[in-house]
Amino acid sequence: MITVMKFGGTSVGSPEALRRVAGIIAGTEGERIVVASAMSGVTNFLVSIVENPLMDYKSIREQFVNKHVSAAAQLFEGEAMDAFMKEMDERMEAFDKAVNSDRNDPFYKDGVVSQGERFSTLLLAHVLKGMGVEAKAITSEDAGIVAEGHPLSGSANLQLSESGMTMNVTPLLAMGVVPVITGYYGVTAEGRPLTFGRGGSDYAAAVVANAVSADVLEIWTDVDGFMSADPRIIPNAIKIEEMNFGEAAELAYFGAKVLHPRTIEPVRLKHIPLKVKNSFKPEEPGTLIHHLRKPKNELLRSVAAKTDLSIITISSAEMAYKPSMVARILDLIAETDTIIYSISTSLSTVAFLVHSNDVKNTLRKLNCLTGYEIERIDVKNHVALICAVGDNLLGKCGVSADIFSAVKEANANVEMISEGASEVSLNFVVPMSKVIDVVRILHDKYIGERDDA
Ligand code: ADP
Ligand code: ASP
Ligand code: MG
Repeated sequence: MITVMKFGGTSVGSPEALRRVAGIIAGTEGERIVVASAMSGVTNFLVSIVENPLMDYKSIREQFVNKHVSAAAQLFEGEAMDAFMKEMDERMEAFDKAVNSDRNDPFYKDGVVSQGERFSTLLLAHVLKGMGVEAKAITSEDAGIVAEGHPLSGSANLQLSESGMTMNVTPLLAMGVVPVITGYYGVTAEGRPLTFGRGGSDYAAAVVANAVSADVLEIWTDVDGFMSADPRIIPNAIKIEEMNFGEAAELAYFGAKVLHPRTIEPVRLKHIPLKVKNSFKPEEPGTLIHHLRKPKNELLRSVAAKTDLSIITISSAEMAYKPSMVARILDLIAETDTIIYSISTSLSTVAFLVHSNDVKNTLRKLNCLTGYEIERIDVKNHVALICAVGDNLLGKCGVSADIFSAVKEANANVEMISEGASEVSLNFVVPMSKVIDVVRILHDKYIGERDDA
């Protein structure tokens, strides 16, 4: 039985939290592989370094070292502290090199922002050793997690990662060692760190689970499980006991921050069940995400929202009669690597929903559209996509009308709808200013005080 256990930033964010999760790992039976995020706040600090070239390096280094050494000082003493410091110093050499390397290098930022995981895993491995668990901190490079793609938004190469990990990690399990692997990033064919986007440790853990064909992936975080909505927006959100991969994938992709958008892919491929659990309340059962949950006939199970989006609408009288035009537009947008969250067409328009950060590049590309009569390109900013997942959202007569009447209560204009494209979700776009109201009204109306999602 192989369990891959991923611990998020708050779960490894303090000496107490580190001790608590080491206890959870030590109390888990069978073979275990641990994947950890950076201590909470550390990645944000590293991002501020890459975004602000004028920061004083001496003070950066001091703050970074302090954060980890002060935690270590509360966790280790004597020889245990010396052993930790020896490895810490080695890793600081790599830190110095990464921060002081060429800022114009396309992978510079990845090299810096991925530093936090190298130190949290070191702390955790040493805490485990102190508890008598044979553990080893391993970087993604040494584990063989292979990444490809663009800076700050890499994807794992599952096949190569499986080969790498079979060589580097599986033998440790046979020796009774618990590998503690850095989350968040993999290594490119050229040996450079490449991160999987913010929150990417969930995805890294799913890649590890896929590579070793784990029996279960556990995502340990700071809430009781996958909830009916973001508990920061909806304080009475309730925990969902069981979900299908498809439902969780849609919600994560469309904004439920509890899982990185791509976490489901690698585990779904191998039918590996995923549990979301609270590291502060390990006795709670959490949420089980797997292949086939029992239907419960709930109209709405969970609602997520993706903010900071924009709608780009292209108008042309030729649109309906020149099908190649839409294809050409899609090709051009694909060249910018922009994710399209929704598409809608009419006789003379095609509208795309993209992240607001991608608007500039997309418009630049669309200027290269030649051979077609374009009348206008409009951009509507400050919109958000609501993703509603439920059992009967699509099959039952009148459900969408009902949902949209709830949206009307929030006085929100529905700007775009995507219905029927997914089997499990109904997605629609509203102005950013209304997103919280809409989520709240939908939640109150359809989930409300239900005590068991
Ligand atoms: P970690 O550091 O453990 O990866 P994150 O902060 O990335 O934790 O994700 C957990 C947070 O996700 C929760 O604290 C919660 O605020 C937020 N969240 C958003 N949507 C949901 C949801 N549907 N269910 C649970 N948590 C959610
Ligand atoms: N530490 C990284 C971040 O804050 C990755 C993660 O936590 O999943 O984005
Ligand atoms: Mg996270």
